[in-house]
Amino acid sequence: MKSDFDVIVAGGGMVGAGLAALFGCYRPTDGLRVAVLEPRPAALPAAHEPLDLRVSALSRASQVLLERTGAWPEVLARGASPYARMVVWDERGTPGGEGAIRFDAAELGEPDLGHIVENRAVQAALTGRAVRHGVTILRTGLDALEVRDEAVVITTGEGRRLSAALLVGADGGESAVRRLAGIGTRGWDYGQHAVVAHLATERPHAQTAWQRFLSTGPLALLPLADGRVSLVWSTTPEAAEELTRLDEAAFSERVTVASAGVLGRLEPVTRRGAFPLRLMHALSYTRPRIALVGDAAHGVHPLAGQGVNLGFMDCAALVEVTGDALAGGGDPGEARSLRRYERWRKAENLPAMALMDGLQRLFSNDDPMLSWARRTGLFLADRAAPLKRVLIERAMGLAGEIPRPVARESLAG
Ligand SMILES: Cc1cc2nc3c(=O)[nH]c(=O)nc-3n(C[C@H](O)[C@H](O)[C@H](O)COP(=O)(O)OP(=O)(O)OC[C@H]3O[C@@H](n4cnc5c(N)ncnc54)[C@H](O)[C@@H]3O)c2cc1C
Repeated sequence: MKSDFDVIVAGGGMVGAGLAALFGCYRPTDGLRVAVLEPRPAALPAAHEPLDLRVSALSRASQVLLERTGAWPEVLARGASPYARMVVWDERGTPGGEGAIRFDAAELGEPDLGHIVENRAVQAALTGRAVRHGVTILRTGLDALEVRDEAVVITTGEGRRLSAALLVGADGGESAVRRLAGIGTRGWDYGQHAVVAHLATERPHAQTAWQRFLSTGPLALLPLADGRVSLVWSTTPEAAEELTRLDEAAFSERVTVASAGVLGRLEPVTRRGAFPLRLMHALSYTRPRIALVGDAAHGVHPLAGQGVNLGFMDCAALVEVTGDALAGGGDPGEARSLRRYERWRKAENLPAMALMDGLQRLFSNDDPMLSWARRTGLFLADRAAPLKRVLIERAMGLAGEIPRPVARESLAG
C-alpha cells in the first residue's frame, strides 16, 4: 500500500521547517512527498514590527542552510545583525585585559563570525521556502503513532490518520514523538533560568557579542541591527524571578552593574522573559522509521549559542543519508541510513554538549582558586592563535564532518 507521504515532520519550528525546506531543495531528495505538522506556524513579521524577544546567534554553517533553501534574504531583510567580534571574560577579569578571550573574524579571513537573527523570521522564511519546494504544511499536531514494517501511521489532533515511510520528531524539548516512541532521556536541570530582553546601550555595541561569566551564570549582550542588544542573562531561578519583576530603573541598574558597564548604561526597551535551562540528551535519536532532530534530540545551555545550530546540522545530516539511501534504491526510513544518521550526529553533538556543560560548570563557581585558574587559562588561550582558531571554527560550524547539503561549495550546485 502506498503511504500518504514519504516523510512526515512533526513540528515546524526553526529546525522542522529547515529540515522540510532542505529536503525540498536538495537534488537527491527533492522528489520526496514531505508534510510538516505544526499547530502554530509563524508568519513573516511585517517590516515595521519590532524585533521579537527570541533571537539566536546563527553559525556560518546554519547560514549556508538558509542560503541553500533560499530563506536567507528574508531573514536578512528582518534585520539579521552580523557580529565581527566576540569578547568573553571572567567576573574577576576585564573585557580588555587579563581574564578575557577575544575572537575577531578578521583573524580568520571571514567577514563576520555569525549573525543574530529573529527566531520567528527564520521559522517563517523556512516554512515559506518549504512550501515553494512543494512541502505540505498541516496546521495540526501529532497525537499518536503506530510503527508498521513499511510505514509509520500517525494520528493528528483532529483524529486524521496519515502514513509515511519516515517520521521525524522536530517537536522540541517536550517532544511527543520521543515520548510515544519510548525514547528516554538523560540530563539535569541547571538550576538556572535565562532572562531575556532587548536593551538600549549608552555606548555602541561595535558589532561585538559580549559575554561575562558571573558565578551565578553567564550574561550575554548580543548586537542587534537597530543598535540595541539582546540580553541573555542566565542566573538562579530566584534572581530571574526578581529580575523580571523589577521596575525599569532598578532593572537598568542591575543589568548595567552585572555587565560591568561594558556598554555603559543599559535601558530595557522591551518586556522581559525567562526560560528554565536544562541539559537533555535523548538516549537514542532513532527507532525503526523514526528519527529525532533539534531540541527533540538534545537541549543545551545557551551560553555558546549552539542549540539551533546543532539542530540544523542534524537536518543536513538526515537529508544527506536519506538522499544516499534513495540513490542506492532504498526508502527514506530504512534502518541502515537511520543508524548512520544517529552515529554521525551523536559523534558531533556529544562533544559539543560536553564542552558547553564543562564551561558552564567551570564558570558557575566562585571558588578563588578556580577563578584564578580560569583567568590564567583565558589569558593564555587568548594568546594561543591555533587554539582560538580551533574554537571559533567549531563555533562557526566550519569544523567536524560537514553534511554535503550545507557544504559551502553546495551553494554553487
Ligand atoms: C534563552 C535562549 C537563548 C538561546 N539562544 C540561542 C542561540 O543564540 N543560538 C542557538 O543556536 N540556539 C539558541 N537557543 C536554543 C534554540 O532556541 C533552540 O535550540 C531552538 O529553538 C530549537 O528549535 P526546534 O525547532 O528544535 O524546537 P522548538 O523551537 O521547540 O520547536 C518545536 C515545534 O514543534 C511544535 N510542536 C510541539 N509539539 C508538537 C506536536 N505534538 N506535533 C506537532 N508539532 C509540535 C511546536 O509548536 C514548535 O513550533 C537558545 C535558547 C534559549 C532558551
